Amino acid sequence: MTESTALVWFRRDLRSDDHRPLAHALAHHARVHCVFVFDTALLEQLESRADRRVAFIHGSLQSLHVNLARLGGGLRVLHGEARDLIPRMARELGVQEVVCARDYEPFATARDAAVAATLEAEGIAFTALRDQVIFETDELRTGAGRMFSVFTPYRNAWRRALGPHRLGEARVDPRPGQLMLSGTSMPSLADLGFQAVEKGLEPGSEGAQRLWEDFRGRMAHYKALRDFPGRKGVSYLSTHLRFGTLSIRELVREALAQGGEGAQAWLDELIWRDFYQQLLWHRPEVEHHAFKPAFERLAWDEGPEAERRFHAWCEGRTGYPLVDAAMRQLVQTGWMHNRLRMVTASFLTKDLGIHWLRGERFFARHLLDFDLAANNGGWQWAASTGCDAQPWFRIFNPVTQSRNFDPEGAFIRRYCPELALLPPKAIHAPWESGGTPGYPNPIVDHALERQRTLARFKAAGPEGEG
Ligand code: FAD
Repeated sequence: MTESTALVWFRRDLRSDDHRPLAHALAHHARVHCVFVFDTALLEQLESRADRRVAFIHGSLQSLHVNLARLGGGLRVLHGEARDLIPRMARELGVQEVVCARDYEPFATARDAAVAATLEAEGIAFTALRDQVIFETDELRTGAGRMFSVFTPYRNAWRRALGPHRLGEARVDPRPGQLMLSGTSMPSLADLGFQAVEKGLEPGSEGAQRLWEDFRGRMAHYKALRDFPGRKGVSYLSTHLRFGTLSIRELVREALAQGGEGAQAWLDELIWRDFYQQLLWHRPEVEHHAFKPAFERLAWDEGPEAERRFHAWCEGRTGYPLVDAAMRQLVQTGWMHNRLRMVTASFLTKDLGIHWLRGERFFARHLLDFDLAANNGGWQWAASTGCDAQPWFRIFNPVTQSRNFDPEGAFIRRYCPELALLPPKAIHAPWESGGTPGYPNPIVDHALERQRTLARFKAAGPEGEG
C-alpha cells in the first residue's frame, strides 16, 4: 500500500459496515477521511423547515460518527454546495482519490459528473461504486441488448446472474491509525436552518438493525400478511434502505438463506427496487414525463373543482374511509403501507382524474422513505402511464379494496376516529347506512368516474387501447 490518502463521501449510504466505498478506500490507501455534506442545492428545494428526513439524516450521521469513531476515525459534516465543498476538501487534505456509492437520480448524476470533472482536472481520481443496489445501470440487459421494461423477465435475469461475489460482505476493517478524523464539527438542525421534529423512526444503523431483527423472524409470513395495513406484515425498512443505514446485500443474503414463500415474495420487492433504479438511470425523463409517450396526451382534470378534489385527497376528506385513513397516515407519520400507496394513487388518478405528477410530488414532500425511482415507478404504475404498469382498464374500486384488505376496519379506525364506532359491515362505505356525523360523504361517485377514466385513456390513442 502506498502512502496515499482517500476521501470517502457519504450520501445515501449512512452506515460503516458492509460498505463498498469504505472497504475500497481502506484496501487502497494508507489514510482515509470520511465526509458528509448537507447539500444546500437539495435542502433549499424542501418546502418545509420542519422536515422529518433532515432530522432522520441528522440522527443517522450522529450514529455514523460514533461508529466510525469506534473504528478510530470519525465523520466530518459540512453544510453548503457539495459541488464546491468536495473538491475543496479533497484539495485541502491532499487526497488522491474521492470514493462514493453511485447514485442514479438525475440530480445526483449531474452533480457527480461536475465533481468528477473538477477533481480530475486537478489529478484527483473520482470513483463511484455500486453499493445501494445489487445490479445497477445496464448490468442486466435483455437478449437483444436492451433495457428491461417488464419486471418478470428482469427478475428472472436478476436471479440467474446472481453469484456469491455480488452479495459478498464489503468488510470494513481498518488498521490502527488508518481512519482519520478531520475536524469534529456536527452542525445542529438549527445551524442548517431546520427545526427539530419527531423523526418517526429511530435513525442510524441501530434503528435499522432493530427493525431488521424484528422482521427476520416474520419474513416467512410476509406473503400471507403483506397486503393488510392493519396487520404487522411488512418490514418497515424502506427509510433505512433509502438512506443506506443497512446494507441491501445483507438483506438479500438473509432472504436467500431463509428461502420459502415469504422470503421469495419479499426478495421480489427488493428486486422491484433495483428494477425502478435501473429504469430511472436508463430513462431519466420519467421524472417529469409518462414512460409511455402516448399517455402524455391524457387530458387530466384541472380548474377549481379539480383543486377542491385534490385538497380533499391531501387532507384525507374524500369520504372513502380507506383512502382517507391512508392519507392521514402519510401526513401524520411520513410512511404509508404499500397496498394503500396503490389505492390512494389509483384514487387520485382514476377516481379524481388528477395528474399523477401532483400526487407524486405530494408523496415526495411527506414520505420519510421518499425515493425518486420507487415513487415515480409506483405512481406511474398506478396511473397506468408507466413501465410494466397496471393496465389502464383495471381500476381499483376503493370500497372493494377496503373490504378485502382491511376487513374489520382496524386500520381505518386508527386514523379515522370519527368512524371508530361503526361495525365492520358499515365502515367501508358509511354513506350506505346514512352517513356519520363529522365525516364527509363521498366527493365523487366511483362508477361514474370509472367511465370517465376509461374514456380518457381511450382518447389518448393507440397505446391507450392497451
Ligand atoms: P416491504 O414490503 O417490507 O419491502 C421491502 C423493501 O422493498 C422496501 O423497503 C423497499 O425498499 C422495497 N420495495 C417494496 N416494494 C417496492 C416497490 N413497489 N418498488 C420499489 N421498491 C419496493 N418505496 C420507497 O422506498 N420510496 C418511495 O418513495 C415509494 N413510493 C411509492 C409510491 C407509490 C404510489 C407506490 C405504489 C409505491 C411506492 N413505494 C416506495 C414502494 C413501496 O410502497 C414501499 O417501498 C413500501 O411500502 C415500504 O414499506 P416496507 O419497507 O415495509 O416494504
